[in-house]
Amino acid sequence: MSAALASRLIAGARKIVVKIGSNTLADSNGSINTAFLNEFAAQTAALTEQGKQVVIVSSGAQIAGLWTLGSWARKKDIHYRQALCAVGQVELMAAWRRALSAYNLKTGQILLTRDDFGDPVRALNMRNTLFTLVDEGIIPVINENDTVGVEEIKIGDNDNLAALSAILWSANLLVLLSDIDGVYDKNPKEHPGAKLISEVHNINELKQKISIGSANDFGTGGIATKIEAAEKVCAYGIPAFLAHGGRPNVLLALASGEQPCTVFV
Ligand code: ADP
Repeated sequence: MSAALASRLIAGARKIVVKIGSNTLADSNGSINTAFLNEFAAQTAALTEQGKQVVIVSSGAQIAGLWTLGSWARKKDIHYRQALCAVGQVELMAAWRRALSAYNLKTGQILLTRDDFGDPVRALNMRNTLFTLVDEGIIPVINENDTVGVEEIKIGDNDNLAALSAILWSANLLVLLSDIDGVYDKNPKEHPGAKLISEVHNINELKQKISIGSANDFGTGGIATKIEAAEKVCAYGIPAFLAHGGRPNVLLALASGEQPCTVFV
């Protein structure tokens, strides 16, 4: 039973990276889902009180940018999208700061590109900053630095960014929150009878047996990058969950074994 395994893994984890996908961060009207942020902040506070440390990897800058500028026009050119992210990142962090401060938690922003992980000095600096923030009781919120990230130097999706961050920080667990309960044998949005795969012990076998459908409108990675992220961390002995961020009190529900998910071990 994956729910019981998930519960055991959370109980044993002290350092947890949680990645929140665009579809969880945004309401259906394209605004930041503040109800989710508030509930998430409350759960972060509860986990912190249990002695756990939480690092957030948050998507949503582009959506927040569109919302702030009051336009849903989705121009494709990269500079327009980068400009949207520049506007939206400020709103996103303001929303996180408001939500976390209601529970007396402070937050710090870390914006990263792929180059940062490839350069040993920068990687060490990032690692030290992460450790320092967390040691000071601050909740880091990581996102890709979209304004400098042209296609060639982008990680391109926050699933892989979250995996790299989890490895860099030597996390004990990576939790990927999306708008589905886990990995299915087929895209559940297109196939109502799709079956949830609750435990994955061999990622190559998983890739053989599932079909990968397309991502949502704002999702950048889809299920493929979630599997890639899980593969990355599992290689370092860090288990990963994929779970539905829209379920009530998702982290606490996973901790108490009440929520289905896919566990990668
Ligand atoms: P997020 O923005 O939360 O990162 P994405 O839209 O990038 O989410 O990816 C999640 C989507 O991947 C799901 O909503 C689902 O429609 C799609 N998907 C495609 N194939 C599968 C599959 N085999 N199992 C689960 N989800 C799948």
